[in-house]
Amino acid sequence: MVEKITAYRFDRLEQTLSQLNQEDCLIMAGGTDVMVLHKSRRGVPPKIIKPIVFIDHLSELKQVVQKNKDLHIGSCCTYSELLENPLIPEPLKRAIKTIAAPATRNRGTLGGNICNASPAGDTLPLLYVYNTKLLLRSVDGDRVVAISDFIQGPRRVQRMPNEILVEIILPSVLEEGSRVVFEKVGNRNADAIAKVSFAGLIQISNDRIEDIRFAFGAVGPTMVRSIDIEKKLIGKTIPLADADIAMIVSDFDKIIKPIDDQRSTAVYRRTVALNLLRYFLSLKRYQLN
Ligand SMILES: Cc1cc2nc3c(=O)[nH]c(=O)nc-3n(C[C@H](O)[C@H](O)[C@H](O)COP(=O)(O)OP(=O)(O)OC[C@H]3O[C@@H](n4cnc5c(N)ncnc54)[C@H](O)[C@@H]3O)c2cc1C
Repeated sequence: MVEKITAYRFDRLEQTLSQLNQEDCLIMAGGTDVMVLHKSRRGVPPKIIKPIVFIDHLSELKQVVQKNKDLHIGSCCTYSELLENPLIPEPLKRAIKTIAAPATRNRGTLGGNICNASPAGDTLPLLYVYNTKLLLRSVDGDRVVAISDFIQGPRRVQRMPNEILVEIILPSVLEEGSRVVFEKVGNRNADAIAKVSFAGLIQISNDRIEDIRFAFGAVGPTMVRSIDIEKKLIGKTIPLADADIAMIVSDFDKIIKPIDDQRSTAVYRRTVALNLLRYFLSLKRYQLN
């Protein structure tokens, strides 16, 4: 017997929000995580129990706008669209190029990567070091939340059932002066889920560190970032002393919690994560002068 499902595809965001307020629906953007998550046996269509509401076509969710030095990215911009947009910072484009293959990039969205909240989500370490804020909207109004508060665990986010993630806000990202790096270690350069990923941001003035941030993916239930550890490096002269680097590496060694799974081992993940951090702190590749 053919199973029927209810699906909504409204022309406007407002109508979509109103439906979400009346009924508990499954939001579908590009569907590249949703379809995998609900897959059944081979040859059998995915089983989705809730009504589906499609949002990927909504023009309100597909804008990329510069406001002063901040960048506002519509949650339903696909990776392929972002790669073509001149406003998108190069490090984010570098991360996107490691995601899946072009067909999936044509469907997958930045908002979907955030709301799926995978510990191996490739855009997430960068979005953490950019201090990303998220604009969520419902019929009750808007709220803005830091990405580190929004993501609470694997596939667990702080979203009310009637809310849609509307914009991803990268504060001050269009300001000159910081160096940002992204590293993903997987079985190959793209089209492979990360074993470990790392993002770092550094701003140096007169040989002193003015700002430094780093975050790891795939070595804990969410991205691992510690502002307390970063603070220990503010004001330090570069190149950093070996003792400082060793102290930070040891601090991180205590807070990362890699696991063994089908993609890698905890030991490998820990070793690589700490090596990436050592490499970043030695500033060899990212030296400004
Ligand atoms: C073959 C393949 C390879 C992949 N490779 C990678 C990879 O290398 N790296 C990587 O990080 N990911 C990878 N992914 C995962 C996936 O493509 C990304 O996470 C993508 O960004 C998900 O976006 P989407 O629009 O398809 O999300 P969807 O599947 O539509 O949604 C994902 C989740 O987010 C919710 N959601 C989506 N948008 C919103 C919104 N605006 N507001 C509220 N909730 C929302 C949905 O309800 C769902 O729970 C891969 C997937 C496939 C199928």
